[in-house]
Amino acid sequence: MSAPTPPSGTPTQASGDRDDLIFADEADLSLPSPIRTAGAATWRILVVDDDADVHSTTSFALKNVEMQGRPLEFLHAYSAREARAILEQQPDIAVVLLDVVMERPDAGLQLVRQIREELGLIEVRIILRTGQPGYAPEIEAIRGYDINDYRTKSELTRTKLYTAVAAAVRSYQQLRALDASRSGLEQIVSAGAQLMALHGVRDVAQGVLRQAAALLGLAPAGVLCVRESGQGRPDILHVVAAAGEHARLEGRELSPQRYPRLADVAARTLGARAGLEADGWLSLHFPGKAGRDFVACIPFEGQVGDIERRLLDVFASVVAVGLDNVELVTHLHQAAFRDQLTGLPNRTRLVELLDALLAGPQRDAATLALVDLDHFAETNDALGHHFGDLLLVAVGKRLKSRLKDDKGRQLEVARIGGDIFCVLGDAGAVQPAAIQALFRVPFHIDGQDVQVSATLGLVRLGEHDGSGADALKDADIALKRAKSQQRAGHFYFSRSMGIEIRERVRMMHALRSGFQRGELFLAYQPQVDLATNRPFGAEALLRWRLEDGRLVGPDRFIPIAEYSGLIVDIGEWVLRQALAELVRLRAVGYLGFTMSVNVSQVQFRHPQFVDMLRRALDATGAPPEFVELEITESMAMEEPALLIEKLAQVKRTGVSIAIDDFGTGFSSLSHLQRLQVDRLKIDRTFVTEITGSARGSSIAEMVIQLGRNLDLSVIAEGVEDERQAHILRTLGCPLAQGFLFSRPLSPEALIAWLGNQALIEAA
Ligand code: C2E
Ligand code: CA
Ligand code: CA
Repeated sequence: MSAPTPPSGTPTQASGDRDDLIFADEADLSLPSPIRTAGAATWRILVVDDDADVHSTTSFALKNVEMQGRPLEFLHAYSAREARAILEQQPDIAVVLLDVVMERPDAGLQLVRQIREELGLIEVRIILRTGQPGYAPEIEAIRGYDINDYRTKSELTRTKLYTAVAAAVRSYQQLRALDASRSGLEQIVSAGAQLMALHGVRDVAQGVLRQAAALLGLAPAGVLCVRESGQGRPDILHVVAAAGEHARLEGRELSPQRYPRLADVAARTLGARAGLEADGWLSLHFPGKAGRDFVACIPFEGQVGDIERRLLDVFASVVAVGLDNVELVTHLHQAAFRDQLTGLPNRTRLVELLDALLAGPQRDAATLALVDLDHFAETNDALGHHFGDLLLVAVGKRLKSRLKDDKGRQLEVARIGGDIFCVLGDAGAVQPAAIQALFRVPFHIDGQDVQVSATLGLVRLGEHDGSGADALKDADIALKRAKSQQRAGHFYFSRSMGIEIRERVRMMHALRSGFQRGELFLAYQPQVDLATNRPFGAEALLRWRLEDGRLVGPDRFIPIAEYSGLIVDIGEWVLRQALAELVRLRAVGYLGFTMSVNVSQVQFRHPQFVDMLRRALDATGAPPEFVELEITESMAMEEPALLIEKLAQVKRTGVSIAIDDFGTGFSSLSHLQRLQVDRLKIDRTFVTEITGSARGSSIAEMVIQLGRNLDLSVIAEGVEDERQAHILRTLGCPLAQGFLFSRPLSPEALIAWLGNQALIEAA
């Protein structure tokens, strides 16, 4: 019977840019010399793949190669159906190189099932290959069907392909040689399959000890170790499982001082990469990927026979694949549920823990706390990411080790995002004061003491009626609220916050559709030169008129636009609208007029902000030197490094920058100097204070002074009466804005107002 021929015109060699079978990088590979043994039998390798290129590259890669003294012979199938037909008629196939995805996504695995179950071929070795990197191995299938190897095609370089096939051939040969002792063989295969069904390296390792003992007709005893590279010290042997009189060694390091003979046998086995018998021990070697070889040592007096030794070796090779897979699965499991940096449970795991807790009786007594480190981003920027990482590890350790419940048990601590930790436990133990007290002692990192504080958002789970994920969302809402009030504070989630949130969600939908329906518009509030009362510009202020004519204030809807991200689109629209208005004003003769536009933090942080600004300037033709962006002081204080860079980019477009609400934050002088801003806007509250409070004009005065020292322009906002204006003039404040001069106006009203001013002046 001949294998089906591949379609004509098929290339016979992989081209370098293909990602599945790449051999080009291994041109100088030294494969065993191709000696053809005349008349010798061959190892028959069945290549099953729907991609003709894979057939040619595989045969090419293994061309003229000999294994165990015999050459290879290739059979080709282009579908699972063809493969099955070949296997039915040619039972002496040694290895099947099998593509997982063919006519159907599971065609390959179906074929494996047929080979093992329907055709009853238990000796043929199977190497699964898949083209898709990231295609999750069907662990169940690998466990269930005695598969030798599972690789992505890109992983199977020429050497690896050779190694994998050689190992499979060897294993096939051993299985054939043992054909006589069928019962032992079946025991091994079923032992292997049983092992694969176990989860976790420890379980499998224990199973290995049990099965090995059973093969020898002994009670389980001995140890199974893995060699681990000791960080900074010589390799150590870690005991994964132990039984019998050595049971207490499980989970420990195998000390060569205390167990010299055992350690010696284990080390020699690993060195020789083969099992041995010595000093009352029998050992088995399990080759692992990436140098993580396993070794089992079983107390054994006397001699094992040749056939038993071979049985044990086959057992070891079957098990090795299983151990590798289990390690892989355990690793994936770890990665899926643990935070890599701190080793603490991650968000996914925390949600599981929460779900379990909410389903149980402890829910009524439990509290969930989110712990957010204040100003972590700045620490990271200032001291570097490595330092930041060490700080996070230290915080995680401190939370885990110091927080205890009344029975002295540690609380559940997770890290669920960058600088956000989570503590879960009895309400009595999860107390804001207790958690915040932990941050009062500085963290000692890299020889330095760092002081960080944390803000907390808490949820009493007894009052919570949703899922674990919902509880986390509620905690996040509470955290946001705590952060908006003060750093290093805390807030408990309450139902009313939930209602408030629903109201916000409702408003968010209304805003989105209102924006699309054109319910938003801009009003322009003139800005004047205090010395002459002459207008020089205007601030664009956003307005929202609902269908029924009611106005919603920007103080109410802008936070919602920010929160929902809508501000990015709305902000772009505001900018273009205001710039277009500036161009119209210029067209009617107001050439020196400037336009100020408010920019929210969310909008400013958007990675495309500067591009958006440039495009708006281009599209409207507005001259950048007459455009000013207002950013708030609180924003000017966050993430200095990022802000400085962004401001520099904005400045390069030619527009200028004002700091809004100045005086409400705490920007330091040195900080202000590093930011390239042009103007400070004295917040309305300080203007009101001038006449209405005991503190009087002191803050306004300070800002004016600061502007003079830093050579920045200063404007007072919210000037409502002549007395305030007079005092500001006396203090040397050059510019002002407020109801005294004009309320925010429609475009038409603004032009009319400006016309009147000119008339007043002319008069
Ligand atoms: P803001 O930037 O501080 O704007 C000044 C606010 O003070 C405006 O309120 C304005 O109408 C009001 N105002 C002006 N003069 C006086 C006065 O003499 N007395 C009093 N009592 N108030 C005065 P508005 O328009 O309600 O805006 C509130 C806030 O909404 C703004 O504060 C700004 O933070 C935000 N906002 C407005 N438009 C936009 C926008 O287009 N984008 C963004 N991101 N935020 C905006
Ligand atoms: Ca403003
Ligand atoms: Ca303001």
